[in-house]
Amino acid sequence: MTWPIPTPEEQVQFLRNIQRLLAEGLFVASYKFALVHALADLAVLKGEDTGAPLDLETKDIAAKFVELYWRQSRPFQIGGETTGLILQQNTGKQAAIISQIAQSQQECGGSLFRLKQTASDRWSALVAEVDQVVRTMPLWKLQTVGNEPLEFLYENLGRGNRITLKPGVAYCFRAFYELVRDLIEGAWVRFVQKLNANKLGNVTDLGTFLFGQERASLDAYRPILLEVQKGICLYCQKPLSKQSQVDHFVPWSRYPADLGHNFILAHDKCNNAKSDFLAAENHLAAWIERNREHQVELQDRLVAAALPCDLTASIQIAKWVYQQTEKANGQVWVMEKVLRHLGPDWTKCFAA
Ligand SMILES: [Zn+2]
Repeated sequence: MTWPIPTPEEQVQFLRNIQRLLAEGLFVASYKFALVHALADLAVLKGEDTGAPLDLETKDIAAKFVELYWRQSRPFQIGGETTGLILQQNTGKQAAIISQIAQSQQECGGSLFRLKQTASDRWSALVAEVDQVVRTMPLWKLQTVGNEPLEFLYENLGRGNRITLKPGVAYCFRAFYELVRDLIEGAWVRFVQKLNANKLGNVTDLGTFLFGQERASLDAYRPILLEVQKGICLYCQKPLSKQSQVDHFVPWSRYPADLGHNFILAHDKCNNAKSDFLAAENHLAAWIERNREHQVELQDRLVAAALPCDLTASIQIAKWVYQQTEKANGQVWVMEKVLRHLGPDWTKCFAA
């Protein structure tokens, strides 16, 4: 069966509906934000650019919840200093998921990846607990605005451990991922700010704490990348000097994930010139080749250093971002200040 892609009108309607959910939905906890965020993330990771419906298991949604709330369940920090305060995410007593995650962090330390790798029983138990909350709290309540149903994402079955995104929904999440993510994260920050106003005063970098990346940990990747890149800059292919930077190949601004294979080592000036652009086809080929040639070594060393990695997910994300950029007639970075429009040939890099 072929599924037609949504018409332009249907795509605009999807965005209007997302806006309505955020503007008119009643939010007592931040779960609904997390739910829409998780659905968008999963559409990128598991969906296709057709109008096809997408089956999702609630345990996959729960795993995304844990990832989203992991940072947020730690004591709030201002300028690197902890305040000891765990931010309130619910109007009443603390949201159950935050307490469950905070408990796991106390037992297993702060690394989510380590929890998945070395305490897989604890990880599965945590996902099961969160899954229970997802299925009783936000899943069947999300698509109600005021007291009207707005059932545009999936059918409200009211029970069970799976949902099916309606035809066209995964397509729209993939097409408007960055836009939707910004809408959700902005609304989520305002919600948490309001709930914690008396304790936060006029703290302004709440968004960084809730959704930012953890810069501090990037140095751990350096020796590993230096070796698999044989001391060569991924972008200009010249020997690296002391002035080098570890950075995301698919920019954090396009898809926020710290996954080992997505990191590259490049000269300061190459990396600064690339900035938040997507890299051109020759760089994409170099990145794919590096990951392919050193697949086993890279995987082993990342795992040994307790650094998060998932090659399949990294490739899915890269394919998605190049596909969307080509469709949008977007530009990619070649070198220095040179940009050009992305043509269809990028797909060959993955086929090789
Ligand atoms: Zn360079």
